[in-house]
Amino acid sequence: AYYLKNIEEKNPVLNAFVAVYDQEATQRAEEIDQKIAAGTAGRLAGMVLGIKDVLCYQNHGLQAGSSILNGFVSQFTATAVQRVLAEDAIIIGRQNCDEFAMGSSNESCAFGVVRNAADTSRVPGGSSGGSAVAVQADMCLASLGSDTGGSVRQPAAFCGLVGLKPTYGRVSRWGLIAYGSSFDCIGPITKSIDDAALLLEIMAGADDFDSTVSQQPVPSFTQAVAKTTVQKQKVAYLREGVESEALQPEIRQAMQAKLDWLREQGHEVEPIDFALLSYILPTYYILTTAEASSNLSRFDGVRYGHRTATPVDLMELYKKSRSEGFGKEVKKRIMLGTFVLSASYYDAYYTKAQKVRRLVKNQTDELFKKYDFLIMPTTPTTAFPIGDKTEDPLQMYLADIFTVQANVIGYPAISIPAGTDAQGLPMGLQVLGKPFGEADLLAFSKYIV
Ligand code: GLN
Repeated sequence: AYYLKNIEEKNPVLNAFVAVYDQEATQRAEEIDQKIAAGTAGRLAGMVLGIKDVLCYQNHGLQAGSSILNGFVSQFTATAVQRVLAEDAIIIGRQNCDEFAMGSSNESCAFGVVRNAADTSRVPGGSSGGSAVAVQADMCLASLGSDTGGSVRQPAAFCGLVGLKPTYGRVSRWGLIAYGSSFDCIGPITKSIDDAALLLEIMAGADDFDSTVSQQPVPSFTQAVAKTTVQKQKVAYLREGVESEALQPEIRQAMQAKLDWLREQGHEVEPIDFALLSYILPTYYILTTAEASSNLSRFDGVRYGHRTATPVDLMELYKKSRSEGFGKEVKKRIMLGTFVLSASYYDAYYTKAQKVRRLVKNQTDELFKKYDFLIMPTTPTTAFPIGDKTEDPLQMYLADIFTVQANVIGYPAISIPAGTDAQGLPMGLQVLGKPFGEADLLAFSKYIV
């Protein structure tokens, strides 16, 4: 009831939820109350969650923030969602996001912009912007988002929250609308690291419905964060993440202060230069648009959602349905992806980008032989004003400069709150850990937060 009241009061301005399951959530809360009384409640009893509009939930609408899925209803439930439901979480609604999770500001969406609750003239970040604002403004306790290039971590940073992108393959992607299939990860947005650990523990692990999900056993992340002692660690930090002129000064200072503190505590802290840094963003955009152009070909006006009225022939049915249904950013990326995959340019772009991806992976693997963690800012600036970057895609893409590396190489990464800037806007600090090393990553994050 507390969260429903907040939604009623705040959602008309913030626009974080696109659908609220009030009756259903209330009824479920009553059922779970009974289970609690009977001592049979699951581990998430009482946790009120929101889910990003890219996660399937049986018999509930699903649109990925796009008009092309108008009226679409999920026929099954995503594995990650199924697992939290099985532990008695309550799903209170479906959250606004950038169309098909493509964006860094939640301004590219059929349901309109989402506003940052810290300053409603500013963006919440994206693409899981609605999921972050919902937690920030106490409209739910935690959210499940998706992170292809920073979409969980960047909005978490802009809203003062914890955002965790697990190792690629840690959580099943079954029931997640695909953007870049070799990048996509489902991750929690929470107020505490403890809740992030608990949600990951429940969502993670093998799943017959996703052949890319890892068979590795899932350690107890909740036990890992319960430990209070942390051994001496070897920590690397990205030199650019402290020294770059492009960084907002307060973010630089926050980074510096945290690194100084770590040194005082006796940890080894060393700067590293990542020679390939400037290639990571182009690599990301070549590969994700390529994958997206293929993934989004299924939205043809026949199978799902929107279909154009009175088409003359089949080709026109496809063309018109797609022209009418997709928004501008999505169309741009489909065209880019189709271009880099086209016969004449495949080697120049797609193959090249795959090679760079491998190099970035190899270099990061080398780095992690020497260090336990890599620290950098989550974003170069705090939340920017709505409309600020919409005319300049390059500026918008640069908002992801620090987050995409983890997705390009599949590493786990977390954004943790790091204070506020002079205007009271939240800042975030990012920590990367070893693949499938979320237990250590979460424990270390809890220690430094
Ligand atoms: N902003 C990035 C993009 O637009 C990341 C999106 C995401 O992680 N889903 O591709």
